[in-house]
Amino acid sequence: MGITRRHFLVSLGALAQDFRTRAAGSRQSSLSRFEFAEPHMGTMMKIALYARDQTTASAASRAAFDRIAALDHIMSDYDDGSELMQLCRAAGGPPVTASEDLWRVMAAALDLSAKSDGAFDITVGPLVQLWRRARRRHELPEPDRLATALALVGYENVVLDAKRRTARLLKPGMRLDLGGIAKGDAADQALIVLRRSRIPVALVAAAGDIAAGDPPPDRTCWRIGIEAFESPSIPPSESVGIRNSGVSTSGDSEQHVEIGDVRYSHIVDPKTGMALTDRRSATVTAPQDISADCYATALCVMGSERGFKLIAGLPGGAALMIEDEAGQVRQRQTSDFPAMAPLNGGAAVDAQ
Ligand code: ADP
Ligand code: MG
Repeated sequence: MGITRRHFLVSLGALAQDFRTRAAGSRQSSLSRFEFAEPHMGTMMKIALYARDQTTASAASRAAFDRIAALDHIMSDYDDGSELMQLCRAAGGPPVTASEDLWRVMAAALDLSAKSDGAFDITVGPLVQLWRRARRRHELPEPDRLATALALVGYENVVLDAKRRTARLLKPGMRLDLGGIAKGDAADQALIVLRRSRIPVALVAAAGDIAAGDPPPDRTCWRIGIEAFESPSIPPSESVGIRNSGVSTSGDSEQHVEIGDVRYSHIVDPKTGMALTDRRSATVTAPQDISADCYATALCVMGSERGFKLIAGLPGGAALMIEDEAGQVRQRQTSDFPAMAPLNGGAAVDAQ
C-alpha cells in the first residue's frame, strides 16, 4: 500500500497535522484509507479510518479529536481548571457532582482497585507528583516526603454515590491521577464518535492505548505491533490482531528514570509508594480499551502470576506479559491472547 498523497493541515490553531490518504486494500471497495494525527493528553493521538471521501473522513476525525480534547479537559491533572483538579481541591469536603464522563472513568478505576487489591489505584496522585520530580531532578524522593504522600493514598477514601452521581474524597490533600486509564477511555469514546459519524471501520491510537472498530476491507482484523521489550526504537516482532475491541501496553520502556543504576518506572506500587523497578511490560486486550488500559497498568504492578488470575475475571480479556527475571527475559500469555504470526523484518502494522 503506497502513500498516494501527503498533506499538512492546520486545525484549530493546533500544530501542523499530518494526514495521509492511501488506496484501500480492496479493489472492489469504494472506501479509501485516511490517517490523522493530533497532540492530545500529552501524546500524539492517531486515527486511521476508511471512508468514501476526504470531506467525510476529515469531518469525522475532527469530531473524534474534539471529543478527545473535551475528555482531556475533564481528566487532566496538568490542567488546574480540569474537572478532576476541581474535585481534588474539594478533598476533605462534602460530595461533588461529577460529569458522566468523569463518573464512568472513576467507577471503572475503583472497580479494578477492588479487584486488584489496590494494585491499580487512582489516588496515587501525590506519589506520582514526587516521582515526576525525581525524574526531572534525577534524584530519589526523600523518605519523609514519600511517607507523607503515601498517607494520602488509598482508593477506599474515594466514595462514589451512584444514585446522585457524586464523588467524595475523604482526606484533604488527596490527588487523583487518571494517567493509567484516561487514554484508553478517550480511544473508546473517539471510536464511538466515529461510528456515530457512520465510520465503523476505524482505529484510534492514544500511544499504547488503542481502540479498534470494524476491520479494514478484505481483512479480518487490525494488526497492532507490540513494542519491543528492549527498546521502543526497535521495530516490533510480535503483533496482535483485534477488531471491535481494545489493546493497551504498559511498561517502563518510554518513561522511566535511572538513578544509581536502578531503573524506576512511571508506574508506582500504591502499597509501598515506590516506583516499579521490576522490568515488565503488559499487553492486554479487552472488549473496551478503558479496561485494557487500566488492567495493563495493574498487571505491571502485580506480575504475571497474580495478574493472569485477575485477567481471568475480565470478560473477553487476555494478556501477554514480558518480564525480566534476574536477567532472563520471559514471555507468557493467556491461552486466548490474539497473537498474530511474528513480523519478519518490520512488516506493516496499523499501529503500535
Ligand atoms: P502509559 O501512560 O504509558 O499509557 P499506563 O497506562 O501504565 O502507561 O499508565 C501509567 C500512568 O498511570 C502513570 O504515569 C501515572 O500517571 C498512573 N499510575 C502510576 N501508577 C499507578 C497505579 N499503581 N495505579 C493507577 N495509576 C497509576
Ligand atoms: Mg494503563
